[in-house]
Amino acid sequence: MSTDTVEKEFGSVRKLISDVCERMSIDETYHLRLCECERELTVHFPVKMDDGTVKIFTGFRVIHNDIRGPAKGGIRYHPEVTLDEVRALAALMTLKTAVVNIPYGGAKGAVICNPKTLSQGELERLTRRYAAEITILIGPESDIPAPDVGTNPQIMAWIMDTYSMGKGYCVPAVVTGKPIEIGGSKGRFEATGRGCMITTLLAAKHFKINAKEATVAVQGAGNVGATAAKLLSKEGCRVIAVSDSKSGVYNPKGLDIDSLLQYKKETGSVNGFKDSETITNAELLGLQCDILLPAALENQIVKTNADSIKAKVIIEGANGPTTSEADKILGGKGIVIIPDILANAGGVVVSYLEWVQGLQSFFWDEPEVNTYLQKIMTNAFAEVLEISQRNKADMRTAAYMLSIRRVAEAIATRGIFP
Ligand code: NAD
Repeated sequence: MSTDTVEKEFGSVRKLISDVCERMSIDETYHLRLCECERELTVHFPVKMDDGTVKIFTGFRVIHNDIRGPAKGGIRYHPEVTLDEVRALAALMTLKTAVVNIPYGGAKGAVICNPKTLSQGELERLTRRYAAEITILIGPESDIPAPDVGTNPQIMAWIMDTYSMGKGYCVPAVVTGKPIEIGGSKGRFEATGRGCMITTLLAAKHFKINAKEATVAVQGAGNVGATAAKLLSKEGCRVIAVSDSKSGVYNPKGLDIDSLLQYKKETGSVNGFKDSETITNAELLGLQCDILLPAALENQIVKTNADSIKAKVIIEGANGPTTSEADKILGGKGIVIIPDILANAGGVVVSYLEWVQGLQSFFWDEPEVNTYLQKIMTNAFAEVLEISQRNKADMRTAAYMLSIRRVAEAIATRGIFP
Protein backbone atom coordinates (compact mmCIF):
# COMPACT_ATOMS: atom_id res chain seq x y z
CA MET A 1 0.00 0.00 0.00
CA SER A 2 1.27 3.45 -0.89
CA THR A 3 2.36 5.70 1.97
CA ASP A 4 1.67 8.76 -0.17
CA THR A 5 -0.33 11.47 1.55
CA VAL A 6 -3.52 12.09 -0.35
CA GLU A 7 -5.60 15.26 -0.30
CA LYS A 8 -8.76 13.13 -0.24
CA GLU A 9 -8.14 12.48 3.45
CA PHE A 10 -9.12 15.18 5.92
CA GLY A 11 -6.00 14.45 7.99
CA SER A 12 -3.80 15.37 5.00
CA VAL A 13 -5.64 18.64 4.36
CA ARG A 14 -5.45 19.45 8.09
CA LYS A 15 -1.70 18.82 8.02
CA LEU A 16 -1.28 21.20 5.07
CA ILE A 17 -3.37 23.84 6.85
CA SER A 18 -1.44 23.34 10.12
CA ASP A 19 1.96 23.57 8.42
CA VAL A 20 1.01 26.86 6.76
CA CYS A 21 -0.58 28.24 9.97
CA GLU A 22 2.66 27.49 11.83
CA ARG A 23 4.77 29.03 9.09
CA MET A 24 2.66 32.21 9.26
CA SER A 25 2.40 32.18 13.09
CA ILE A 26 -1.39 32.24 12.82
CA ASP A 27 -3.08 32.62 16.24
CA GLU A 28 -3.79 29.15 17.64
CA THR A 29 -7.53 29.84 18.04
CA TYR A 30 -7.91 30.43 14.30
CA HIS A 31 -5.57 27.59 13.45
CA LEU A 32 -7.61 25.11 15.53
CA ARG A 33 -10.83 26.40 14.05
CA LEU A 34 -9.59 25.79 10.50
CA CYS A 35 -8.64 22.24 11.46
CA GLU A 36 -12.25 21.29 12.25
CA CYS A 37 -15.46 21.30 10.22
CA GLU A 38 -18.17 23.56 11.65
CA ARG A 39 -21.13 21.31 10.88
CA GLU A 40 -21.43 17.71 9.76
CA LEU A 41 -24.73 16.11 8.88
CA THR A 42 -25.09 12.38 8.14
CA VAL A 43 -28.46 11.19 6.83
CA HIS A 44 -29.80 7.69 6.23
CA PHE A 45 -32.90 7.84 4.10
CA PRO A 46 -35.25 5.51 2.18
CA VAL A 47 -35.79 5.51 -1.59
CA LYS A 48 -38.47 3.55 -3.45
CA MET A 49 -36.73 1.56 -6.19
CA ASP A 50 -38.29 0.68 -9.56
CA ASP A 51 -38.76 -2.98 -8.56
CA GLY A 52 -40.97 -2.01 -5.62
CA THR A 53 -38.34 -2.52 -2.91
CA VAL A 54 -37.13 0.26 -0.59
CA LYS A 55 -33.41 0.87 -0.14
CA ILE A 56 -31.71 2.91 2.56
CA PHE A 57 -29.00 5.30 1.31
CA THR A 58 -26.47 7.29 3.33
CA GLY A 59 -25.59 10.88 2.54
CA PHE A 60 -23.56 13.70 4.05
CA ARG A 61 -23.40 17.48 4.01
CA VAL A 62 -20.42 19.10 5.68
CA ILE A 63 -19.83 22.82 6.20
CA HIS A 64 -16.17 23.34 6.90
CA ASN A 65 -16.31 27.10 7.42
CA ASP A 66 -18.73 29.93 6.62
CA ILE A 67 -16.92 32.85 8.20
CA ARG A 68 -16.50 34.78 4.89
CA GLY A 69 -20.01 34.11 3.53
CA PRO A 70 -22.42 31.28 2.78
CA ALA A 71 -20.83 27.85 2.50
CA LYS A 72 -20.29 26.62 -1.06
CA GLY A 73 -19.46 23.24 -2.49
CA GLY A 74 -20.52 20.41 -4.75
CA ILE A 75 -22.48 17.22 -4.20
CA ARG A 76 -20.81 13.96 -5.14
CA TYR A 77 -22.60 10.69 -5.96
CA HIS A 78 -20.09 7.86 -5.70
CA PRO A 79 -20.18 4.30 -4.31
CA GLU A 80 -16.99 4.75 -2.28
CA VAL A 81 -17.40 8.27 -0.94
CA THR A 82 -16.83 8.66 2.83
CA LEU A 83 -17.52 11.31 5.45
CA ASP A 84 -13.77 11.84 5.83
CA GLU A 85 -13.41 12.55 2.10
CA VAL A 86 -16.35 15.00 2.25
CA ARG A 87 -14.66 16.82 5.16
CA ALA A 88 -11.42 17.10 3.15
CA LEU A 89 -13.22 18.41 0.07
CA ALA A 90 -15.23 20.89 2.18
CA ALA A 91 -12.00 22.28 3.70
CA LEU A 92 -10.47 22.64 0.23
CA MET A 93 -13.55 24.63 -0.81
CA THR A 94 -12.98 27.08 2.07
CA LEU A 95 -9.44 27.61 0.77
CA LYS A 96 -10.51 27.78 -2.89
CA THR A 97 -13.19 30.44 -2.35
CA ALA A 98 -10.77 32.45 -0.20
CA VAL A 99 -7.90 32.28 -2.71
CA VAL A 100 -10.04 33.78 -5.48
CA ASN A 101 -11.60 36.15 -2.91
CA ILE A 102 -15.27 35.43 -3.49
CA PRO A 103 -17.54 35.90 -0.45
CA TYR A 104 -18.11 32.25 0.37
CA GLY A 105 -17.04 29.59 2.83
CA GLY A 106 -16.53 25.92 2.02
CA ALA A 107 -18.84 22.88 2.06
CA LYS A 108 -19.30 19.55 0.33
CA GLY A 109 -22.00 16.91 0.15
CA ALA A 110 -22.29 13.33 -1.01
CA VAL A 111 -24.50 10.30 -1.29
CA ILE A 112 -23.01 6.80 -1.25
CA CYS A 113 -24.47 5.39 -4.46
CA ASN A 114 -23.55 4.46 -8.00
CA PRO A 115 -25.57 6.82 -10.19
CA LYS A 116 -24.74 4.73 -13.28
CA THR A 117 -26.80 1.82 -11.90
CA LEU A 118 -29.87 3.94 -11.01
CA SER A 119 -32.76 4.66 -13.40
CA GLN A 120 -33.72 8.32 -13.99
CA GLY A 121 -36.74 7.81 -11.72
CA GLU A 122 -34.61 6.33 -8.92
CA LEU A 123 -32.03 9.10 -9.32
CA GLU A 124 -34.75 11.76 -9.08
CA ARG A 125 -36.37 10.19 -5.98
CA LEU A 126 -32.96 9.75 -4.31
CA THR A 127 -32.00 13.36 -5.07
CA ARG A 128 -35.30 14.85 -3.89
CA ARG A 129 -35.21 12.89 -0.62
CA TYR A 130 -31.54 13.75 0.00
CA ALA A 131 -32.32 17.43 -0.73
CA ALA A 132 -35.20 17.33 1.78
CA GLU A 133 -32.89 15.72 4.38
CA ILE A 134 -30.23 18.44 4.05
CA THR A 135 -32.70 21.34 3.86
CA ILE A 136 -31.80 22.20 7.46
CA LEU A 137 -28.40 23.31 6.14
CA ILE A 138 -28.79 24.47 2.54
CA GLY A 139 -30.25 27.79 1.40
CA PRO A 140 -29.24 30.80 -0.72
CA GLU A 141 -27.94 32.60 2.36
CA SER A 142 -26.47 29.61 4.19
CA ASP A 143 -25.05 26.83 2.01
CA ILE A 144 -25.24 26.54 -1.77
CA PRO A 145 -24.60 23.16 -3.45
CA ALA A 146 -23.33 22.62 -7.02
CA PRO A 147 -22.55 19.58 -9.22
CA ASP A 148 -19.50 17.43 -8.53
CA VAL A 149 -18.43 13.91 -9.55
CA GLY A 150 -21.55 11.86 -10.45
CA THR A 151 -24.01 14.78 -10.35
CA ASN A 152 -25.09 17.21 -13.08
CA PRO A 153 -27.32 20.22 -13.92
CA GLN A 154 -30.49 18.05 -13.95
CA ILE A 155 -29.75 16.91 -10.39
CA MET A 156 -29.29 20.57 -9.37
CA ALA A 157 -32.69 21.34 -10.95
CA TRP A 158 -34.36 18.64 -8.80
CA ILE A 159 -32.68 20.01 -5.66
CA MET A 160 -33.78 23.55 -6.53
CA ASP A 161 -37.34 22.35 -7.19
CA THR A 162 -37.53 20.34 -3.95
CA TYR A 163 -36.22 23.27 -1.91
CA SER A 164 -38.60 25.70 -3.67
CA MET A 165 -41.62 23.42 -3.04
CA GLY A 166 -40.81 23.49 0.67
CA LYS A 167 -40.65 27.29 0.65
CA GLY A 168 -43.71 27.80 -1.53
CA TYR A 169 -41.88 29.97 -4.07
CA CYS A 170 -39.05 29.66 -6.60
CA VAL A 171 -35.53 29.89 -5.08
CA PRO A 172 -33.02 29.67 -7.97
CA ALA A 173 -30.03 30.81 -5.85
CA VAL A 174 -30.14 27.71 -3.60
CA VAL A 175 -27.92 25.79 -6.06
CA THR A 176 -25.55 26.66 -8.90
CA GLY A 177 -24.62 24.71 -12.02
CA LYS A 178 -28.33 24.68 -12.95
CA PRO A 179 -29.66 24.34 -16.50
CA ILE A 180 -29.85 27.75 -18.25
CA GLU A 181 -33.69 27.57 -18.50
CA ILE A 182 -34.08 27.81 -14.72
CA GLY A 183 -31.41 30.36 -13.88
CA GLY A 184 -28.10 28.74 -14.82
CA SER A 185 -25.34 31.07 -15.96
CA LYS A 186 -24.00 31.35 -19.45
CA GLY A 187 -20.37 30.26 -19.43
CA ARG A 188 -20.78 27.97 -16.38
CA PHE A 189 -20.27 24.74 -18.35
CA GLU A 190 -16.89 25.86 -19.70
CA ALA A 191 -15.84 27.86 -16.62
CA THR A 192 -13.41 25.42 -14.99
CA GLY A 193 -11.62 24.63 -18.26
CA ARG A 194 -11.59 28.34 -19.13
CA GLY A 195 -10.08 29.11 -15.73
CA CYS A 196 -7.39 26.48 -16.42
CA MET A 197 -6.67 28.11 -19.78
CA ILE A 198 -6.38 31.57 -18.18
CA THR A 199 -4.06 30.21 -15.47
CA THR A 200 -1.94 28.35 -18.03
CA LEU A 201 -1.41 31.51 -20.10
CA LEU A 202 -0.54 33.54 -16.98
CA ALA A 203 1.91 30.88 -15.81
CA ALA A 204 3.45 30.60 -19.29
CA LYS A 205 3.96 34.35 -19.42
CA HIS A 206 5.57 34.48 -16.00
CA PHE A 207 7.81 31.45 -16.50
CA LYS A 208 8.85 32.71 -19.95
CA ILE A 209 7.21 29.99 -22.01
CA ASN A 210 5.93 31.28 -25.35
CA ALA A 211 2.27 30.18 -25.36
CA LYS A 212 2.24 30.11 -29.16
CA GLU A 213 4.98 27.48 -29.14
CA ALA A 214 4.11 25.75 -25.88
CA THR A 215 3.47 22.01 -25.93
CA VAL A 216 0.63 20.82 -23.70
CA ALA A 217 -0.40 17.34 -22.52
CA VAL A 218 -3.89 16.95 -21.04
CA GLN A 219 -4.92 13.99 -18.89
CA GLY A 220 -8.72 13.59 -19.01
CA ALA A 221 -11.09 14.61 -21.78
CA GLY A 222 -14.17 15.45 -19.70
CA ASN A 223 -15.65 18.81 -18.82
CA VAL A 224 -12.39 20.31 -17.53
CA GLY A 225 -9.79 18.61 -19.75
CA ALA A 226 -11.68 18.85 -23.05
CA THR A 227 -12.60 22.51 -22.52
CA ALA A 228 -9.07 23.46 -21.47
CA ALA A 229 -7.57 21.58 -24.46
CA LYS A 230 -9.99 23.30 -26.87
CA LEU A 231 -9.39 26.80 -25.49
CA LEU A 232 -5.62 26.36 -25.22
CA SER A 233 -5.40 25.17 -28.80
CA LYS A 234 -7.46 28.25 -29.84
CA GLU A 235 -4.83 30.36 -28.06
CA GLY A 236 -2.17 28.80 -30.29
CA CYS A 237 -0.72 26.23 -27.88
CA ARG A 238 0.29 22.87 -29.37
CA VAL A 239 -1.78 20.24 -27.54
CA ILE A 240 0.29 17.12 -28.22
CA ALA A 241 -1.53 14.54 -26.08
CA VAL A 242 -4.99 13.93 -24.60
CA SER A 243 -6.26 10.91 -22.71
CA ASP A 244 -9.45 9.51 -21.22
CA SER A 245 -10.18 6.52 -18.99
CA LYS A 246 -9.74 4.13 -21.94
CA SER A 247 -6.65 5.40 -23.72
CA GLY A 248 -4.44 8.31 -24.75
CA VAL A 249 -3.44 9.80 -28.11
CA TYR A 250 -0.21 11.59 -28.99
CA ASN A 251 1.08 13.62 -31.92
CA PRO A 252 4.26 15.66 -31.32
CA LYS A 253 3.20 18.09 -34.08
CA GLY A 254 -0.07 18.81 -32.26
CA LEU A 255 -3.55 17.27 -32.30
CA ASP A 256 -6.53 18.80 -34.11
CA ILE A 257 -8.57 19.27 -30.90
CA ASP A 258 -11.93 20.11 -32.49
CA SER A 259 -11.76 16.95 -34.63
CA LEU A 260 -10.53 14.90 -31.66
CA LEU A 261 -13.44 16.02 -29.45
CA GLN A 262 -15.92 15.34 -32.26
CA TYR A 263 -14.34 11.88 -32.69
CA LYS A 264 -14.68 11.22 -28.94
CA LYS A 265 -18.32 12.31 -29.06
CA GLU A 266 -19.01 9.86 -31.88
CA THR A 267 -17.00 6.87 -30.64
CA GLY A 268 -16.98 7.39 -26.85
CA SER A 269 -13.17 7.54 -26.63
CA VAL A 270 -10.10 9.30 -28.04
CA ASN A 271 -8.71 5.84 -28.86
CA GLY A 272 -7.89 5.34 -32.56
CA PHE A 273 -8.01 9.03 -33.53
CA LYS A 274 -6.38 9.72 -36.94
CA ASP A 275 -2.85 11.13 -37.16
CA SER A 276 -1.95 10.05 -33.66
CA GLU A 277 -0.23 7.23 -31.85
CA THR A 278 -1.81 5.47 -28.91
CA ILE A 279 -0.21 6.03 -25.52
CA THR A 280 -1.02 5.00 -21.97
CA ASN A 281 -1.86 7.43 -19.20
CA ALA A 282 1.51 6.70 -17.60
CA GLU A 283 3.25 7.61 -20.86
CA LEU A 284 1.20 10.82 -21.17
CA LEU A 285 2.24 11.96 -17.71
CA GLY A 286 5.90 11.36 -18.57
CA LEU A 287 5.88 13.18 -21.94
CA GLN A 288 8.41 15.86 -22.78
CA CYS A 289 6.22 18.98 -22.80
CA ASP A 290 6.01 22.51 -21.43
CA ILE A 291 2.64 22.20 -19.68
CA LEU A 292 1.06 19.12 -18.11
CA LEU A 293 -2.62 19.49 -17.26
CA PRO A 294 -3.94 16.62 -15.12
CA ALA A 295 -7.74 17.03 -15.41
CA ALA A 296 -9.10 13.58 -14.61
CA LEU A 297 -8.86 12.23 -11.07
CA GLU A 298 -7.09 12.71 -7.77
CA ASN A 299 -3.76 11.01 -6.93
CA GLN A 300 -2.41 10.65 -10.48
CA ILE A 301 1.05 12.07 -9.83
CA VAL A 302 2.44 10.06 -6.93
CA LYS A 303 5.77 9.18 -5.33
CA THR A 304 6.38 6.36 -7.80
CA ASN A 305 5.90 8.32 -11.03
CA ALA A 306 6.85 11.88 -10.02
CA ASP A 307 10.43 11.35 -11.14
CA SER A 308 9.29 10.55 -14.69
CA ILE A 309 7.54 13.92 -15.14
CA LYS A 310 9.34 16.16 -17.64
CA ALA A 311 6.89 19.08 -17.93
CA LYS A 312 8.06 22.54 -16.88
CA VAL A 313 4.71 23.55 -15.36
CA ILE A 314 1.82 21.47 -14.00
CA ILE A 315 -1.65 23.04 -13.98
CA GLU A 316 -3.87 21.08 -11.58
CA GLY A 317 -7.21 20.97 -13.39
CA ALA A 318 -8.41 18.05 -11.25
CA ASN A 319 -8.81 18.24 -7.49
CA GLY A 320 -5.82 16.73 -5.70
CA PRO A 321 -4.02 15.12 -8.68
CA THR A 322 -0.62 15.42 -6.97
CA THR A 323 0.20 13.83 -3.62
CA SER A 324 2.35 15.63 -1.03
CA GLU A 325 5.29 13.27 -1.55
CA ALA A 326 5.13 13.77 -5.33
CA ASP A 327 4.93 17.51 -4.70
CA LYS A 328 8.29 17.42 -2.92
CA ILE A 329 9.93 15.36 -5.68
CA LEU A 330 8.62 17.73 -8.38
CA GLY A 331 9.75 20.76 -6.37
CA GLY A 332 13.23 19.24 -6.19
CA LYS A 333 13.26 18.91 -9.98
CA GLY A 334 12.30 22.60 -10.36
CA ILE A 335 8.86 21.82 -11.78
CA VAL A 336 6.30 24.52 -10.99
CA ILE A 337 2.83 23.42 -9.83
CA ILE A 338 -0.14 25.74 -10.09
CA PRO A 339 -2.32 24.18 -7.37
CA ASP A 340 -5.91 22.98 -7.75
CA ILE A 341 -7.38 25.56 -5.36
CA LEU A 342 -6.20 28.23 -7.80
CA ALA A 343 -6.03 26.51 -11.21
CA ASN A 344 -9.51 24.93 -11.18
CA ALA A 345 -11.30 27.71 -9.27
CA GLY A 346 -12.97 28.97 -12.48
CA GLY A 347 -15.97 26.70 -11.81
CA VAL A 348 -16.73 28.12 -8.38
CA VAL A 349 -16.11 31.66 -9.63
CA VAL A 350 -18.81 31.31 -12.29
CA SER A 351 -21.02 29.52 -9.73
CA TYR A 352 -20.68 32.67 -7.65
CA LEU A 353 -21.64 34.77 -10.69
CA GLU A 354 -24.65 32.48 -11.26
CA TRP A 355 -25.72 32.96 -7.61
CA VAL A 356 -25.39 36.76 -7.92
CA GLN A 357 -27.46 36.72 -11.15
CA GLY A 358 -30.12 34.53 -9.47
CA LEU A 359 -30.35 36.77 -6.40
CA GLN A 360 -30.89 39.89 -8.51
CA SER A 361 -32.94 38.13 -11.23
CA PHE A 362 -30.78 39.81 -13.84
CA PHE A 363 -28.83 37.66 -16.27
CA TRP A 364 -25.68 38.48 -18.17
CA ASP A 365 -24.29 37.65 -21.61
CA GLU A 366 -21.50 35.11 -21.88
CA PRO A 367 -18.77 37.70 -22.70
CA GLU A 368 -19.73 39.58 -19.52
CA VAL A 369 -19.41 36.41 -17.43
CA ASN A 370 -16.08 35.55 -19.08
CA THR A 371 -14.73 39.05 -18.45
CA TYR A 372 -15.46 38.75 -14.71
CA LEU A 373 -13.90 35.28 -14.67
CA GLN A 374 -10.76 36.55 -16.42
CA LYS A 375 -10.45 39.43 -13.95
CA ILE A 376 -10.94 37.30 -10.82
CA MET A 377 -8.55 34.56 -11.96
CA THR A 378 -5.91 37.09 -13.06
CA ASN A 379 -6.04 38.92 -9.71
CA ALA A 380 -5.84 35.67 -7.74
CA PHE A 381 -2.90 34.43 -9.81
CA ALA A 382 -1.02 37.71 -9.32
CA GLU A 383 -1.62 37.67 -5.55
CA VAL A 384 -0.47 34.07 -5.15
CA LEU A 385 2.60 34.74 -7.31
CA GLU A 386 3.52 37.81 -5.27
CA ILE A 387 3.28 35.84 -1.99
CA SER A 388 5.29 33.02 -3.53
CA GLN A 389 8.10 35.38 -4.57
CA ARG A 390 8.12 37.42 -1.36
CA ASN A 391 8.21 34.36 0.90
CA LYS A 392 10.26 32.08 -1.35
CA ALA A 393 7.40 29.59 -1.19
CA ASP A 394 6.08 27.32 -3.91
CA MET A 395 2.75 28.27 -5.51
CA ARG A 396 0.74 25.72 -3.49
CA THR A 397 2.09 27.00 -0.18
CA ALA A 398 1.54 30.58 -1.36
CA ALA A 399 -2.09 29.83 -2.31
CA TYR A 400 -2.64 28.28 1.14
CA MET A 401 -0.98 31.29 2.78
CA LEU A 402 -3.25 33.72 0.95
CA SER A 403 -6.46 31.83 1.68
CA ILE A 404 -5.63 31.03 5.31
CA ARG A 405 -4.70 34.65 5.94
CA ARG A 406 -8.04 35.79 4.49
CA VAL A 407 -10.06 33.34 6.61
CA ALA A 408 -8.04 34.12 9.77
CA GLU A 409 -8.53 37.87 9.26
CA ALA A 410 -12.27 37.33 8.85
CA ILE A 411 -12.40 35.30 12.09
CA ALA A 412 -10.41 37.99 13.92
CA THR A 413 -12.63 40.78 12.61
CA ARG A 414 -15.92 39.05 13.39
CA GLY A 415 -14.75 37.90 16.83
CA ILE A 416 -15.97 34.86 18.73
CA PHE A 417 -19.63 34.53 19.66
CA PRO A 418 -20.85 35.11 22.38
P1 NAD B 1 -15.60 14.43 -16.13
O1 NAD B 1 -16.25 13.23 -15.55
O2 NAD B 1 -16.36 15.29 -17.08
O3 NAD B 1 -14.25 14.02 -16.89
C1 NAD B 1 -13.27 13.19 -16.36
C2 NAD B 1 -12.42 12.69 -17.51
O4 NAD B 1 -11.34 11.94 -16.98
C3 NAD B 1 -13.15 11.77 -18.48
O5 NAD B 1 -12.74 12.06 -19.80
C4 NAD B 1 -12.64 10.38 -18.10
O6 NAD B 1 -12.65 9.47 -19.20
C5 NAD B 1 -11.23 10.73 -17.70
N1 NAD B 1 -10.62 9.73 -16.86
C6 NAD B 1 -11.16 8.96 -15.89
N2 NAD B 1 -10.24 8.13 -15.39
C7 NAD B 1 -9.08 8.39 -16.03
C8 NAD B 1 -7.78 7.89 -15.97
N3 NAD B 1 -7.47 6.94 -15.11
N4 NAD B 1 -6.86 8.41 -16.79
C9 NAD B 1 -7.16 9.38 -17.67
N5 NAD B 1 -8.37 9.89 -17.78
C10 NAD B 1 -9.32 9.40 -16.98
O7 NAD B 1 -15.08 15.26 -14.86
P2 NAD B 1 -14.68 16.79 -14.81
O8 NAD B 1 -15.86 17.58 -14.38
O9 NAD B 1 -13.94 17.16 -16.04
O10 NAD B 1 -13.69 16.78 -13.55
C11 NAD B 1 -12.34 16.35 -13.67
C12 NAD B 1 -11.60 16.76 -12.42
O11 NAD B 1 -11.70 18.17 -12.23
C13 NAD B 1 -12.13 16.15 -11.11
O12 NAD B 1 -11.04 15.98 -10.23
C14 NAD B 1 -13.04 17.23 -10.55
O13 NAD B 1 -13.20 17.13 -9.15
C15 NAD B 1 -12.24 18.46 -10.95
N6 NAD B 1 -13.03 19.69 -11.00
C16 NAD B 1 -14.08 19.81 -11.83
C17 NAD B 1 -14.79 21.00 -11.87
C18 NAD B 1 -15.95 21.19 -12.81
O14 NAD B 1 -16.51 22.30 -12.86
N7 NAD B 1 -16.32 20.21 -13.61
C19 NAD B 1 -14.44 22.06 -11.02
C20 NAD B 1 -13.33 21.91 -10.18
C21 NAD B 1 -12.63 20.72 -10.19
